[in-house]
Amino acid sequence: MSQGLRLESVCRANYDGQMSENKGSAASAVKKEVFYEQGLRFECQGSGKCCTSHGEFGFVFLTLEDRERFAKHLGLSVEAFLTKYCDQTNGIYHLKEEKGRPDCLFLKNKQCTVYEARPNQCRTWPFWPEVMNAKAWKSEVEDFCPGVGKGRIWTKSEIEEIVKRDKENERKLLSGK
Ligand code: SF4
Repeated sequence: MSQGLRLESVCRANYDGQMSENKGSAASAVKKEVFYEQGLRFECQGSGKCCTSHGEFGFVFLTLEDRERFAKHLGLSVEAFLTKYCDQTNGIYHLKEEKGRPDCLFLKNKQCTVYEARPNQCRTWPFWPEVMNAKAWKSEVEDFCPGVGKGRIWTKSEIEEIVKRDKENERKLLSGK
């Protein structure tokens, strides 16, 4: 299972300053090493923890592509899907949250019930730009997610490819796509 609830504030921010270890001019001759230089071991353990609101993490945001994929998967028109399952915050669509229920509404028995149709942000977890610095990785991912340290090693280039995909997803969200 690959999951992800997202910081409410993330879609109002860009990531400048968040990948502190990646900072520096692109033209810089010496590239600063990142904490995941040797890759990171990760394999989802199906805990469902990251599909549950925790701390500031709370929204599952949806791009147009996500909304269309979801609607098709559920056999609904996009309009019907939006009415039944979505809300908007600052103009950005996200899955509805039920009051008093911290879990994503598609999480049942710690399993994603829409796995094939899960949103892009769930596909890129845990390699999100905002946690790709040693401090945030430790507090927001390593200390929280039982998948860290398990399974195969994701190489630096694989991680950076996912981070890139996530940034592109973020751009789409912010531009209403
Ligand atoms: S859509 Fe699925 S993977 Fe994403 S947060 Fe909800 S239950 Fe988790």
